Amino acid sequence: MNYRHAFHAANFADVVKHAALALLVERLQAKQGALAFLDLFAGPGVYDLEGEAARKTGEAEAGLFRLWPPPKGELGGLLKPWLDHVAALNGGRGTSRPKLYPGSPELLRRLLRPQDRLVLAELHEADGAALRRRYGQDGQVAVHRRDGFEALPALVPPPERRGLVLIDPPYEQLDEWDRLARALQRAYRRWPTGVYVVWYPVKDPSALVPWLGRLRQAVPRRLLQAELSLFDEQPAWRLNGCGLLLVNPPWRFVDTLEVLLRGLQPLLARSGGATRVAWLTGEDDQPGT
Ligand code: SAM
Repeated sequence: MNYRHAFHAANFADVVKHAALALLVERLQAKQGALAFLDLFAGPGVYDLEGEAARKTGEAEAGLFRLWPPPKGELGGLLKPWLDHVAALNGGRGTSRPKLYPGSPELLRRLLRPQDRLVLAELHEADGAALRRRYGQDGQVAVHRRDGFEALPALVPPPERRGLVLIDPPYEQLDEWDRLARALQRAYRRWPTGVYVVWYPVKDPSALVPWLGRLRQAVPRRLLQAELSLFDEQPAWRLNGCGLLLVNPPWRFVDTLEVLLRGLQPLLARSGGATRVAWLTGEDDQPGT
């Protein structure tokens, strides 16, 4: 395992993932019942954007820093549930650029209500140790040094019976695509009403077609795809964009995602690009969670 997210923290992909995640959590919390959040490829939790790893790649320049100070208007409103927590981690909403960046565990922790719970899994020794230092004494958070693909079907359904699973592997090994499809299929069979969010990179879009076909079969009802690309030309050697797959998103969340991605795309674009939000299976046929 060589992947370290510290080199990529707050890049365009984190912007898409974390902005959407905060909105989704906010929607799920419209109901009072307790929620379980499972973040199975958690990373270390908090990143130092002035640290060596982040400075080496400078990826936040084309991500979070393009949104700082935060935009106003409709997009600003949609980014607020996420960016307020970025600002809070940095001591409030100032105009200076954030030094610290909340990864998904820290963002989710900050979004928890007293009745909610967070389960983190991370396999990398140093990142797992960082999680234990940060959340080890936190009564609302459980930290596992565990394989996320194995944990995914094993940990669902959570006792709360309502909640969200974030599946955000590094796609460093070729077999991760297959492991993810199999694990999601098993998890969905065990817990078909759970909300699952899968992040994935887009290099060659045509190479994704068979994998998306497998996920369609695994999730025959209510699988939503949201993609954002940064370029018109999409050579397979570079990261051209990223996508989110949402299983059982809340009623009408599709509209929120569409406005979010359309607003973000021109701010994150490198040379052209586009957004796509579409149901891969099913649709919003009934008011749900
Ligand atoms: N979710 C994090 C966030 O948004 O802040 C970023 C996660 S990063 C993309 C992927 C993480 O998965 C890395 O920290 C890596 O060490 C970890 N990882 C890789 N393979 C894993 C596995 N099989 N099980 C659990 N964690 C794994």
